Amino acid sequence: MADVLELKGSGPMRLFTPNLRLKTIYDLPLSWLKERHVRAILTDLDNTLVPWRDYRVADELAGWFRDLHDNGFRTVILTNARPSPTIQKMSEELETQLVVGARKPVQRFFRRALERVNASPAEACVIGDQVFTDVLGGNLIGCYTVLVERIGHREFFGTRLMRVLERRVLRSVNRFRVEPEPGHGGSEGSE
Ligand SMILES: [Mg+2]
Repeated sequence: MADVLELKGSGPMRLFTPNLRLKTIYDLPLSWLKERHVRAILTDLDNTLVPWRDYRVADELAGWFRDLHDNGFRTVILTNARPSPTIQKMSEELETQLVVGARKPVQRFFRRALERVNASPAEACVIGDQVFTDVLGGNLIGCYTVLVERIGHREFFGTRLMRVLERRVLRSVNRFRVEPEPGHGGSEGSE
């Protein structure tokens, strides 16, 4: 799990602290989700699954969704992007649910996404590339949260401004690193 950084926030920074920081969605350990009884994945779209506004489905991405579904996870793409036929087509190809035109971190859009996958917040994990939309919104509603590195460098102008603040927040949340237990071998937790 070289590209997996586990964090446990505290105090006022807790809401901005993801449970995991990963390089890409492909580093998401399914065992980590299963240990926490996560059943649903709410994932951001732009710069998390694909480069900004490039809604083509790569084989690797299709395989990632297939693997999640084969493992019993339900999925929904939760995006602030405006509805478009290309995004609709993409979600159909990936056989995933879709909530478009959201305004993350506004909570009602997270609730709508949770309804689509019929999961409670505690059973769901939010994945995204932004602290102030994906991580904050997911933490507010009580989901597990995973921050990935953005795929590309192109993004909405407003997002670029937020990145300045985000870098400062991320420097401080990295203090909350959870050190792996020595000899931890993925033991099964008892119920
Ligand atoms: Mg994004």
